[in-house]
Amino acid sequence: MDAVSILARAAFDGLSLTAEPAGKLRLRGPSDARARWLPMVRAHKADLLRLLAEPEPTQRCPPPLAPETEAALVRWLDAINETDAQIRAEFLLSCRRDPDGLSGILRLAADRGMVPAPPVPAPAPPAITCGSCLHFRADEVGDGSGLGACGIGAPASRRTPALWPNAPHLCTDHEGTAP
Ligand code: SF4
Repeated sequence: MDAVSILARAAFDGLSLTAEPAGKLRLRGPSDARARWLPMVRAHKADLLRLLAEPEPTQRCPPPLAPETEAALVRWLDAINETDAQIRAEFLLSCRRDPDGLSGILRLAADRGMVPAPPVPAPAPPAITCGSCLHFRADEVGDGSGLGACGIGAPASRRTPALWPNAPHLCTDHEGTAP
């Protein structure tokens, strides 16, 4: 087990580890948990001191999961009959560190009816062209196939390839169908 896992899993057990002056480590928390973790902490003392000296607390202690998410993961662990406390803690910790992996697990759990299905993202709007929009002002130079203008200055008109009459792009202000 590496120093990051030790810190996070010990925290899961209600413990906190801090670096003290003169290269000492202080372990605080329930005495039974301290007794369990002391040998591990001693064996990795140098790595833990190095880690605690780093200025990146979010890496070693990822933010907690939302309570409903953690409850869903616990239901998942129950459903797959995972009873080993260490593996359960490791699993929850890995979900805190890996949002993509967490989404995958939650989708699987939803497929099996253990948690509500995640919201389905709204479908992307269809691409349109400025040339088919009532707000479009065609280029007056040449045959009109050049860069035109947007009569309402829609935000999308400032994004390439808008204003080229036949270039598909996304614009929520597109209106009607120009002849
Ligand atoms: S940017 Fe949008 S609103 Fe403006 S002309 Fe093009 S499609 Fe129409």
